[in-house]
Amino acid sequence: MTDHTIDAPRILRTRHELRRRHLTVAATERLTPHMIRLTLTGADLHDFASAAPDDHMKLVLNADSDSPQMRDYTPRRFNAQELVVDVVDHPGGPAADWARAAAVGDAITIGGPRGSQRIEGDIDHWLLIGDETALPAIGRWIEEMPAATRVTSIVGVPDAADEQTVTTAADWTAHWLHRPLDQATDPAPYLAALDAMPLGPRTFVWVAAEAMVARAIRTHLLENGHHKQWIKASGYWVAGQADASDKGIED
Ligand SMILES: Cc1cc2nc3c(=O)[nH]c(=O)nc-3n(C[C@H](O)[C@H](O)[C@H](O)COP(=O)(O)OP(=O)(O)OC[C@H]3O[C@@H](n4cnc5c(N)ncnc54)[C@H](O)[C@@H]3O)c2cc1C
Repeated sequence: MTDHTIDAPRILRTRHELRRRHLTVAATERLTPHMIRLTLTGADLHDFASAAPDDHMKLVLNADSDSPQMRDYTPRRFNAQELVVDVVDHPGGPAADWARAAAVGDAITIGGPRGSQRIEGDIDHWLLIGDETALPAIGRWIEEMPAATRVTSIVGVPDAADEQTVTTAADWTAHWLHRPLDQATDPAPYLAALDAMPLGPRTFVWVAAEAMVARAIRTHLLENGHHKQWIKASGYWVAGQADASDKGIED
């Protein structure tokens, strides 16, 4: 048996200057029934940097009030003029509430990304697993992958209308799991999908979902012999807790 710890993928960390940028909503779109796409613009974007698809920045909500609140979001797509953010429309929460009500011309402050973690190595197959909060990172990742890269996604969304199309040069296989948003804390559909998909060697698995779900998927992979250095798992939100995440799930 090959020892995949010897040349396991490396995580290359880069730091960015932590800055607040003051932007304006330039467009809003109901991308799918449960996803709101916001395009932000502003001169402050001229040096915006995001080196990895699973980067995150802070949306600073009520920035001018006595009690601003911050939530983590993925830079879905960006250039020096525009930054696209996809926000899951879930009940409750200041970020989801803000996105639902956002209108062209509204002001929004963002902070970061503070740093990036790029995964590099001799990877034959990428497996990207997540719920709708991970879809911006997964979509961006697949979109940015070079030609012939083998990538499979397993994404949980409420139904077929919430699936997304991504234009990519990569060799992409998509598996969509359908379950209502209020069942996003159930890992069972992901584990069943994994059981139906034996993983070859040199498969890097990236996971981001509700924290208990992400942990259950990681545990399942480890129990089935996948080495922890070939897995990166994060809890992008925590059921029942506001402003909570578990960004680097370890043993
Ligand atoms: C690195 C990283 C990147 C992320 N990128 C994105 C992104 O691009 N798009 C995106 O939509 N989210 C993303 N998230 C998740 C997002 O930060 C959380 O969902 C956040 O809690 C939403 O803030 P809120 O103010 O709407 O709700 P909060 O005030 O944080 O939470 C209020 C309640 O809603 C629940 N809740 C939070 N999120 C969800 C959900 N998705 N479904 C159901 N219930 C929920 C909480 O458990 C809590 O009970 C990311 C998280 C991380 C850590």
